[in-house]
Amino acid sequence: MTSTLLQVRDLKTYFAAKRAEVRAVDGVSFSVDEGQVLGLVGESGSGKSVTGYSIMGLVDSPGRLVSGSVKIGGREISKLTEREWRSIRGREIAMIFQEPMLTLNPVLRIDTQIIEAIQAHADVSRQRAREWAAEALAGVGIPSPEERLSAYPHQFSGGMRQRVAIAIALLHKPKLLIADEPTTALDVTIQGQILAQVQTLALEMKTAVIWITHDLSVVSGLAQRIAVMYAGRIVEEGATVDVLTTPAHPYTQGLLRSLPSQNEPGASLTQIPGAPPRLFGERTGCAFAPRCGVAQPICLERDPIEVANGTRSTQCHFALHREAAA
Ligand code: ADP
Ligand code: MG
Repeated sequence: MTSTLLQVRDLKTYFAAKRAEVRAVDGVSFSVDEGQVLGLVGESGSGKSVTGYSIMGLVDSPGRLVSGSVKIGGREISKLTEREWRSIRGREIAMIFQEPMLTLNPVLRIDTQIIEAIQAHADVSRQRAREWAAEALAGVGIPSPEERLSAYPHQFSGGMRQRVAIAIALLHKPKLLIADEPTTALDVTIQGQILAQVQTLALEMKTAVIWITHDLSVVSGLAQRIAVMYAGRIVEEGATVDVLTTPAHPYTQGLLRSLPSQNEPGASLTQIPGAPPRLFGERTGCAFAPRCGVAQPICLERDPIEVANGTRSTQCHFALHREAAA
């Protein structure tokens, strides 16, 4: 029996701007069960990172959470003070970023940083914290961890720096890890190793993961569920196998067609025409309509309502028609 860990309801995060506010996250709802891996996918600029920051309480001015609810283990966390956040961040929820130096301090040795992160939430001696730090580095596949502890971040390769950041994020076996494209900047081999390592550790620790990526193929083997984001909203969500084999939203279908593995070798990839919209101000209709090959007049005129069917949901005027036809 699994139970719900994270519940996000109608989350809106806007950024103040000169012309009109940027509605980066504009009514996002989803949940994650304990220990579950959710892939959050969509093109660059769709609001994935801002969704992650919003859950983590990391949205700064000119951004703000306009409305909505974020609950972890039933506790509302969208209105915590920074002081309250300090007892949760790094202990119950942790985040890793595309750029590991957002986690690491360039002027401090690795041991100083990890020991500080350990002692922030655990009452252990410095000696014990040091041993713990070495174990954590070993756990993410860093060779000679005792020696590496006295190095500075710049003495590690990009991949090794990311492993250190992951070790820090997982020190206290958080209930939820938000991974924001942590392997995107790394080469494919290292990307695969790190992906597998995080997957193994999360499984061991029963940590739920939101894996954010622009690349559907990264999460296809990793996530139990996939949520597809477009222009600040989730346009389709469901079990990974369902989303990949019978995508219901034309945007998801387009993302899948643009994956190399979906095409004959040598065949040219079919990219979705056009570019994602900018997210200024109020919108009318489906944000994907201008790029959608099957859009009808109603798509530009009215917001699609969510069509939910068991564990699957789609925001498209024609989702039901397609389902009936299939
Ligand atoms: P993704 O992670 O999906 O690539 P983001 O969540 O980073 O997209 O960004 C979503 C939108 O929010 C983008 O249009 C971006 O320009 C806007 N945005 C993000 N951060 C800020 C900020 N600090 N100020 C203004 N706009 C921002
Ligand atoms: Mg991002």
